[in-house]
Amino acid sequence: MLLYMPSNFCRKIHETGVVTEDDVNQLYMIWKPVCSGCRVNTKDNPNCFCGLVPPPNGSRKSGLWEKMSDFVESLGPDPNNDLRASADSPAGLTNLGATCYANGILQCLYMNKLFREGIFSAEPDVLRQQPVLDQLARLFAQLQASKMAYIDSSPFVKTLELDNGVQQDSHEFLTLLLSLLERCLSHSKVPKARTVVQDLFRGSVSHVTTYESWNLSNLLPNKHSFSPYNIHSFLLPVIGFSNISYFLILYFTPLTTTTTTIPTNIFQKQA
Ligand SMILES: [Zn+2]
Repeated sequence: MLLYMPSNFCRKIHETGVVTEDDVNQLYMIWKPVCSGCRVNTKDNPNCFCGLVPPPNGSRKSGLWEKMSDFVESLGPDPNNDLRASADSPAGLTNLGATCYANGILQCLYMNKLFREGIFSAEPDVLRQQPVLDQLARLFAQLQASKMAYIDSSPFVKTLELDNGVQQDSHEFLTLLLSLLERCLSHSKVPKARTVVQDLFRGSVSHVTTYESWNLSNLLPNKHSFSPYNIHSFLLPVIGFSNISYFLILYFTPLTTTTTTIPTNIFQKQA
């Protein structure tokens, strides 16, 4: 571009030793208006992008800006583009606003093969009576057998009456969903379906107090501070740490205390 530079500019800059912003604009021809549709790249206009993109309503012979015939255009988007890359590629779920928490849980549950088999084992009669279970089975069937790259989860979300404008806590959602499915599946007579939630996700927790000194366990035979209760999940405080196993070990490690004060009524009891 310097080849086209008018000589009086050079002289002025040479004599004053100063390059103003205006000089730069003039020298690089930034003042030139944006070019549209010259079909070639104008060499002396930095505002010509015609070689990069076609002008509005313009087209190219091939690629992104290829002109499509009106007939092909009238058919709409090509459904082939929505197919899965291969039969092994997993399918996604459409995001319906703020339902990513539900979609995430649905994908996790679907990927659990035993759970999926349990849902598929429920009798058609039970599915007819339990709309949420029915929609979940339909959604899982589509995730497994459909050729589409993504599945619409709105029938399931609607049946559950989830507000897609409100973000919910995914852990809370999982707990509620599992409790609901447990109730729905209790109507099934197929063992694989009937107890799949309990078999896979239910555990029982009890807090146990033991005494290591003074042989107090003989005096206090009831070691359960609380009777065991059923849980579908429990919370681990993992924020700021990268490893879950550390907290699992911590969670199940007994708390010890070195308190040596013995309640006096124990000795009275012994006596
Ligand atoms: Zn141009």
